[in-house]
Amino acid sequence: MKSATEPRTVASALLSASGVDELAEKVFAAIDKQDEGLRTINKEIWENPELGFKEVHAHKILTDFLEDQGFKVTRSAYNISTAFRAEYFSGEGRTVSFNAEFDALPGIGHACGHNLIATIGVAAAIGVKEALKNQGVSGKVVLIGTPAEESLGGKVKLLEAGAYDDLDCSLMAHPANDRYTSYGRTLASWRANVTWTGEAAHAAAAPYMGRNALDGFVSAYSSTGLYRQQLMPTDRIHHVIQGNHDMVANIIPDSVDSVWGVRGKTRPRVEQVREQLFKILHASASATNTSVEITPFQDYWDQNPSLQLANAYYELQKKYVDPAKDTETSKFTITAPEDDDGEAAASSDQGNVSWFLPSIQVSFPVGGTAPAHNAGFRELAGTDFAHGQAIKTAKALALTGIQVLQNEAFAKAMWEEWEAMIAKISVGLKEGSADSTKRAAKKRHVH
Ligand SMILES: [Zn+2]
Ligand SMILES: [Zn+2]
Repeated sequence: MKSATEPRTVASALLSASGVDELAEKVFAAIDKQDEGLRTINKEIWENPELGFKEVHAHKILTDFLEDQGFKVTRSAYNISTAFRAEYFSGEGRTVSFNAEFDALPGIGHACGHNLIATIGVAAAIGVKEALKNQGVSGKVVLIGTPAEESLGGKVKLLEAGAYDDLDCSLMAHPANDRYTSYGRTLASWRANVTWTGEAAHAAAAPYMGRNALDGFVSAYSSTGLYRQQLMPTDRIHHVIQGNHDMVANIIPDSVDSVWGVRGKTRPRVEQVREQLFKILHASASATNTSVEITPFQDYWDQNPSLQLANAYYELQKKYVDPAKDTETSKFTITAPEDDDGEAAASSDQGNVSWFLPSIQVSFPVGGTAPAHNAGFRELAGTDFAHGQAIKTAKALALTGIQVLQNEAFAKAMWEEWEAMIAKISVGLKEGSADSTKRAAKKRHVH
């Protein structure tokens, strides 16, 4: 990738500036000093899994800890009960932000390791605060407590409420099994509850009096199967029938619930597939004399990381917390930004954030082979090793944030690259949805 080399030069120039080593030492010491408290937070969240928008315990322990650390804390921020905002500033300048996720999965607890994401957010914020308070750096650090990542889109609501409007970048990390990445992407994902409604009737005595909601679903299910031939290899349509426990064979079903999802590489592509899906759903209702109601509950956009931030993170990690130099971590793969193939499998509401401001979501290994969303991964996410990995990741993220605060040329290059990227990836978006990105970008006031 040609464009990767130029920002790498910028990142390298940052590292050779005088005083960086000393600053890194102070920032790391500030994080290490709080390690006991950070380990407690990590463990508490892991041991008490809470579902999206119900993360009451995590919200309490995180905000209490941040207040003790001298941050100005807003609990239940932006009218979202388990969201929060913690900030610290010194003088005038840019604003760097981190995200803390803390929701768990139904039945299998912290099998996505969001306890580690919360720990990283707090640790990184503590690191930047040290630079602001004692090391002569000016600007602001913000930690946003972002609930309900798994399916309900806490960050989508936070974006709508303006939580990211005054920020210059959004940095976060996610655990993986065996690799370090800094330029990871995620897929765009849309999901909806879809209900067909018909009319019940005796299936033998008067079937002609009924309108079969199940037929509505089956018709749509079959038509989607036919549509698959025209899908791109990277598109996904997945759906499940939830039915209705009262269903019996001698009654024409009068209602059927189901969940439908569309995923694709990009937001414009998901919009295209969704448009065809809507035609299928409405046609199925029309063909079966039923009615259909579509209630979307998720609209995650593809994550487009900032190459500038990815390069800075990659270089800072290599210089100050190099996994290759540690016997415990040297076995894991480290992927440089330009070697990242851009393949994505999962989706995240951090994708939406990436359309509003420069961002990265780096990954770090916690070992093992059990994939995320598996009970085995929950065990991996609760170990001391995983905690150590989280702290190292937080250190490199903190240094990346400090570069944004300290270095005018870097921040300018980051914004310019981001604006060019957004212009490029917005091609093909429908008029209305393109506006939502533009509106948010315009509200941003710091450059
Ligand atoms: Zn997950
Ligand atoms: Zn996750």
